[in-house]
Amino acid sequence: MTNGQTRTCGLIGNPVEHTLSPVIHNTLAKDFGHNLVYVPFKVEEGRIGEAVKGAFALNILGCNVTVPYKTDVIPYLVQIDSMAEKIGAVNTLVRHPEGFKGYNTDLPGLYRAMVSDGVTIEGQQVLILGAGGVARAAAILMADRGAARIVILNRTVEKAKALAGEVRGFYPNVLVEAAGTEDISAFQEEKAYLAIQATNLGMYPHTERTLIERPEFYRAVHTGYDLIFNPAKTRFMRLVKEQGGKAFNGLKMLLYQGIIAYELWTQAQVLDEQAERIYQEMKRNG
Ligand code: NAP
Repeated sequence: MTNGQTRTCGLIGNPVEHTLSPVIHNTLAKDFGHNLVYVPFKVEEGRIGEAVKGAFALNILGCNVTVPYKTDVIPYLVQIDSMAEKIGAVNTLVRHPEGFKGYNTDLPGLYRAMVSDGVTIEGQQVLILGAGGVARAAAILMADRGAARIVILNRTVEKAKALAGEVRGFYPNVLVEAAGTEDISAFQEEKAYLAIQATNLGMYPHTERTLIERPEFYRAVHTGYDLIFNPAKTRFMRLVKEQGGKAFNGLKMLLYQGIIAYELWTQAQVLDEQAERIYQEMKRNG
């Protein structure tokens, strides 16, 4: 029940019609007894500045930001968290007295999801498929959490090289390389790699697509972590499993990026059992 004291949070993006974020935030608000509602805000192209200014004027407590505004939103913020600045993308706005501060909860969200799934980063050899926005967050997370070696594989090899160079700049002691999708014969060691799938390929409705098809590539993968969550079982995950590896999808990352945003807005601490309950609810709604 909303009343005069109800606080509002929301999702800025386009499209926003199929988002699962209201399930996360409205369930948490109910759980904690917070007088808070979370709603989608569809923002038309070219209007992100107006949207941020308007949200602040309307006393909105905080927002998530999704495609296509994660980078475009940055000029309209009064502060940016140092990790979000490194990633060059903001997915969470937190209200401050003079305007919104930007954070990136995708990176710690992926970390908490991997911890929850029992996936180790420290000392690992990591293959990152893709060199776009979320691949960048994944590469920085891997370097930050002590991966032994990171290889960024992308269709456009120049983008992989540019990203590898930037990550090396931030973490000079980590081995970061780049390769095109034709160069995969270098990855032959049996079950030697954690592979993170960070391209759009395989997402609904084009579920039969994946960046690399060759089964011998998947023999080198002990764990495949797809950041896509729709469908729940992607082609990439199937290829990993067919060669005896473990495979996970991106639903837990989505859950935890939302939980961390909620914690930033309300200073609440979300417990593991609450996270698990919401995860099950998201699976039912997905
Ligand atoms: P992005 O910045 O647009 O990057 C897209 C990546 O996919 C690039 O590496 C691009 O390669 C590659 N790609 C696209 N079409 C391709 C094709 N036909 N053939 C080969 N490669 C292709 O996208 P993003 O924001 O990083 O998002 C990527 C995925 O992550 C999305 O599917 C999204 O659902 C998922 N995601 C999940 C979460 C979560 O919470 N689980 C959060 C954020 C994003 P080129 O450089 O060669 O174009």
